[in-house]
Amino acid sequence: MNRPTEPPVRDALRRIQEAVGPKGWTDAPDAMEPYLVEQRGLYHGRAQMVVRPESTAQVAAVVKICAEAGIPVVPQGGNTGLAGGGVPSARGDAIVLSLGRMNRIRALDPLNDTITVEAGVVLQRIQEAAAEADRLFPLSLGAEGSCMIGGNLSTNAGGTGVLRYGNARALVLGLEVVLPDGRIWDGLRGLRKDNTGYDLKQLFIGAEGTLGVITAAVLRLFPRPRDVVTAMVAVRDVHAAVELLSLLRGGTGESVTGFELMTRMGMESAARHIEGVADPFDKAYGYYVLIECTSAHGPGPLRGAVEGVLEDALTEGLVLDAVFADSRARARQLWYIREVLPEAQKFEGGSIKHDVAVPVSRVADFIADANAAVEAAMPGVRPFAFGHVGDGNIHYNLSQPPGMDKDAFLAEWQRLNRVVHDVVVRKYKGSISAEHGIGLVRRTDLGHYKSEVELDLMRKVKAALDPKGLMNPGKIL
Ligand SMILES: Cc1cc2nc3c(=O)[nH]c(=O)nc-3n(C[C@H](O)[C@H](O)[C@H](O)COP(=O)(O)OP(=O)(O)OC[C@H]3O[C@@H](n4cnc5c(N)ncnc54)[C@H](O)[C@@H]3O)c2cc1C
Repeated sequence: MNRPTEPPVRDALRRIQEAVGPKGWTDAPDAMEPYLVEQRGLYHGRAQMVVRPESTAQVAAVVKICAEAGIPVVPQGGNTGLAGGGVPSARGDAIVLSLGRMNRIRALDPLNDTITVEAGVVLQRIQEAAAEADRLFPLSLGAEGSCMIGGNLSTNAGGTGVLRYGNARALVLGLEVVLPDGRIWDGLRGLRKDNTGYDLKQLFIGAEGTLGVITAAVLRLFPRPRDVVTAMVAVRDVHAAVELLSLLRGGTGESVTGFELMTRMGMESAARHIEGVADPFDKAYGYYVLIECTSAHGPGPLRGAVEGVLEDALTEGLVLDAVFADSRARARQLWYIREVLPEAQKFEGGSIKHDVAVPVSRVADFIADANAAVEAAMPGVRPFAFGHVGDGNIHYNLSQPPGMDKDAFLAEWQRLNRVVHDVVVRKYKGSISAEHGIGLVRRTDLGHYKSEVELDLMRKVKAALDPKGLMNPGKIL
């Protein structure tokens, strides 16, 4: 591979600059800086240049030049990914390919319930465009004001609507991709049925930029909900939460869109440390679930159905108490409690994080086993679990034992990760990364837990599509 200073590389960089024009690149250190750091400061890379093409043809031209000159390409969207996948390595030989200028909504077809967007469109703009057409684009997550759809698809993002609508993978009908050799694959089809061989688009979704650059997508739209019922429910324990989910789905059909678990520690922390949060109950309970149900019908019947299920669950002893949101503002307040949990946890000292998934039916057993395992590994450590229990996805975070030195606790990050991931994978056949991907953060663990067969298949796919290994090198594999 050419080194940065070699003439062929310099010539290639000059040709890239010509291909994208003066607005399409920078190598000024100050202007490049935001593209080089992971937002939690975990990784800080270097690059020859940040390139910002404005069309698929420009992306293709840039990638082709890079392929010929042996220059690594690191695609980047909003740089909100928390796995270190979007930042270049410290070698400094790569270019960052930012998709931010490819931000056009190409088409919206209400009768086909689809929207066609370029990779750099910010997620919130897609939601707004769908709403203007009286439709819903259901992907929703904390970073939606700055993350971009190309990044969402490349990480197969999850968020709060997965229970009902699936993750990003389930929301895509077609893709346009620039391949590592610079060819364009036009798979922008808006079809709900297409059994013509391998489903290639799924290869690129969740590939974290290691197989090509997503430049556009056809996304599915849904009817816009007319009624939303939000309630905070105190449950007997985690088993009861999972049973309640099943009852709720049975009693209200497909209406359950959110089902988020939190513990007493989470509720207490949020109420104590975060302004604007108050415990909605007069009594303390061990576990809570935030429920959101939506319906395309007008207000009325849904609330009755949810109340009916909760009353039955109260009689059975699964539910101990419940508070309904009687206004949008109150619903916002209830969601706010859930949303501030990561922030609230910071007040409890050092935090070691896990983003794991197990089958929904095993969530309670998993939490009990993981609690026992971490207590054995570090007496006094405080599990701070919360998350999308309806998807089996738990942010199984750990807060330091009271009085322990924060740095000493954080030095145990890898060891405690192994303890928790051993339970997840070995006992529950679960996933060590439910939402955020592998990037750099979980690369070692991926190698540790995936079977040789699975790793071999992944390496062969990578080698088939990117034989020179120039697409986001060092990420995932
Ligand atoms: C406050 C907050 C809340 C969050 N909540 C959630 C959540 O609930 N669920 C969830 O899943 N994530 C969540 N995230 C993580 C993050 O927002 C998602 O991973 C998001 O999908 C990343 O999009 P991005 O545009 O920022 O991608 P980036 O961070 O720029 O990139 C992510 C990865 O995708 C690759 N990539 C980016 N664009 C392309 C492209 N066009 N083609 C090929 N590869 C590309 C990059 O190389 C990198 O590997 C959250 C993050 C924050 C900061």
